[in-house]
Formats: sequence, C-alpha cells, structure tokens
Amino acid sequence: MKKFSSVLLDWYALNKRDLPWRHTRDPYLIWLSEIILQQTRVSQGISYYLRFAERFPTPLSLAQAPEDEVLKYWQGLGYYSRARNLHAAAQSMNGVFPSTYEGVHALKGVGDYTAAAVCSMAYGMPYAVLDGNVYRVLARVFGLDTPIDSKEGKELFAGLAQKLLDSKQPGDYNQAVMDFGAVVCTPAAPRCADCPVAGRCKALAGRRVEQLPVKTQKTKTFARYFHYIYVRQGQKTWLHKRGAGDVWQNLYEPPLVESTSSSEKWFCREDYKALFGNNKPILKVSSLKHVLSHRIIYADLSEVTLPPSFSLPRGFLLIPVRELKKYAVSRLVQKLLEKADLL
Ligand code: SF4
Repeated sequence: MKKFSSVLLDWYALNKRDLPWRHTRDPYLIWLSEIILQQTRVSQGISYYLRFAERFPTPLSLAQAPEDEVLKYWQGLGYYSRARNLHAAAQSMNGVFPSTYEGVHALKGVGDYTAAAVCSMAYGMPYAVLDGNVYRVLARVFGLDTPIDSKEGKELFAGLAQKLLDSKQPGDYNQAVMDFGAVVCTPAAPRCADCPVAGRCKALAGRRVEQLPVKTQKTKTFARYFHYIYVRQGQKTWLHKRGAGDVWQNLYEPPLVESTSSSEKWFCREDYKALFGNNKPILKVSSLKHVLSHRIIYADLSEVTLPPSFSLPRGFLLIPVRELKKYAVSRLVQKLLEKADLL
C-alpha cells in the first residue's frame, strides 16, 4: 500500500491552493503569514498578508514602525495580541530572522505549531505541525478516540504526526495535511466519496466519522454587555485608548459603559454619570453580537450631544470627527460605527 504521506503529497500536487506565501521561502514572510492565519480564515488573511508584506517587507521595517501603525494595519483581523507580539518579536530579531527551530520558537507569540510550520516550510526542517485540521485527519484515518485535548492525546498525536512526516518534503507534507483537513476531511460533511485515503480510513469503515476527533472539555462562554457612547461635540468626538492586559490593548474606542445584564438601565449607572453628567444619550443607534473564543459580547452604540465647554476626564482624547478613520479600532467598534454611518 502506498505510504500515507505519498498519497497526501500526490493529492496536494493536484489540489494545492495558489496562496501568496507559497511563492516564497523567506522565513520572515512565512512567519508573517502564519501569525496572520492564526484564528483567521485564509480568504480574509490574503489581503492583510499582502499589505503587511508590502509595507513591512523585512524584520527591520516592522521593528522600526510605531505600534499604532502596526495595529492600524491589523485592524479588522481581531485578536490584537497577535499584532503586538508580531511587533515585539520583530524588535527582538536585530534585523535577522532566527535560523534555528529553538530561535523561531523563542519568538513572542510563537508556539509549537508556528515554529514547526515556519521551520519546515522555510528551511525544510523535519518538524510536523499539529493543528485542528491535522488532529481531525489523523483521528479519523487511524480511528483514534483518545481525547485530543488530554495530555495523553497530545503526546499520541504529536508522535504519530512526526512519524508520518515526509522528511524529504516536510513543508509540502505539512501543508498537504492541513489543506486536506480544510478542504476534504472537514469538521462537518467531509467529502468521503472523493477522499484519496477512504480505503484506509478507520473512522469511515467503523461509521465513526462524526464522532472523531474526541474532546473532553467544552469551552465555557460568558456574556458581556458593552454600551459604547459616540459623542457629538461640534465637529469633534471623544475616544479612549484601551490599557494594558486587555484583548484590545492600545486600540481606540468611544467611551464605554459595561452593564451586568441586557435589561439594566446602564445610562443611570454612576460610571455613565461620571463621564457625561446629566446629558442623556439617544439609545442604540446600532447594535450587534460579537462572538470571541470564551465570551459573547452584546454591544450597542448610543449617541450623546455635549455642550461645547463640557470635558471628559483625563485619559479621554478629543479629536476632530474627520480624523476618526486614522485611529486603530477593534473590529467590533468598526462595525458598530459603520452600521451607524459614523465611519
Ligand atoms: S474518508 Fe472521510 S473521514 Fe476518512 S479521511 Fe477521508 S474525508 Fe476524512
């Protein structure tokens, strides 16, 4: 029987997607693409990769850019810690991308997966990647029901992935398994009828495709209620820059009041009054639900008009409305402002 890796490499040769980072062996550009693609769909990541690669073509150009500019280029991708780590990692390189697995792994924001992906694709080093696609493909083909989020499961799958790796073409093989998982052996409705490894797939033979892979933990989600207030004060508006230790650290947003439930009258809260006194808002000019990995944010945008002499506390920034576009905001704030025709 043909080796598993050969079947996948043959499939990949025929079905390889033409993606811009597949035309380079530059480790810096491959790393850039991998960071962008963490938690981002390929279709969305392409335009960000192209813009980043054009504006920051080398580690030095990225290291020397101000963080605000890097965040602005990242705007809309979410999970902004990736952009901050990218920037910090570039600043730690002294202009030269690391050339060893350990050096790549030591970069801020790089874990086992990214280090293996970059080293195999850029340097041809024999490190197998393990991401959600690889777990799913291996669990199904080999009929493994050890939970993939258990210590035992992680070791088992890592060992198997490494054993299956094609050491002559590790970069292509890694991309082949991931593409195969993304296109053929998908989480829902996999294309078993067109699958080149169907004949050896234990999950298919045992009718267990939908049950594999197995996970033990269910992620708990929390609901939060965000009420942004867009301020109208002549031709100006107020913004706030989020502080350290936050998912949207260093991004800008209109003043915000958080409530504990959807029914609470948040504009009667003390934190609203501390910002706006007795100036009442026009409620909900736009609203949306924003789903992050561990929480669901119910957000809305209201408006308040302030008299010319009114001032918000320290830490808030009064800016001309026409300059609003220059400030890096989270995807959530961007959507709320766009829905209300304010951006
Ligand atoms: S036969 Fe189906 S479940 Fe098995 S590897 Fe192929 S697509 Fe996945």
